[in-house]
Amino acid sequence: MTKRQLQPAPLVAPQQSTCRHCREPINLNARICYHCGQHQSLWFNAFRFANTISVLLLIVSIFQLILASSERADATDALKKAQLALDKVTLAEGRALAAQKDVVDVAEAVIQIAGILPHATGYGAGLTDSTRAILKSQSSFLNKKLIEFKKASGK
Ligand SMILES: [Zn+2]
Repeated sequence: MTKRQLQPAPLVAPQQSTCRHCREPINLNARICYHCGQHQSLWFNAFRFANTISVLLLIVSIFQLILASSERADATDALKKAQLALDKVTLAEGRALAAQKDVVDVAEAVIQIAGILPHATGYGAGLTDSTRAILKSQSSFLNKKLIEFKKASGK
């Protein structure tokens, strides 16, 4: 045996790398660190984060859903208010039309009476039975309207 043969074979140090997570030395080709058990692939770790990202997206979606529901509730409320306002306007419009009709009816009665009165000399001489009937009916109409107006205005 020669001296050379006695020498131990030189140890071929396996190529070393360091763990991404704990910085301990590991085999260059190791997929999982035997110190901390973490996977060395960036993609694998990204997939592990995917769960967290999914949960965050779910939370964001829930918030958006809550916001949308609240906006829809606001819109429904606004629609109800608009409907109430429209009802009030419609009612006011109806009253205005009724008041306008009253004014026209009263004006017609007054004009008709004013047309007859010049003929009504001394104690109603000069009035025919028909003009007397018109005067009676129109003055009773005006009386009725006057009572209505007083009632409506609270007098
Ligand atoms: Zn490690």
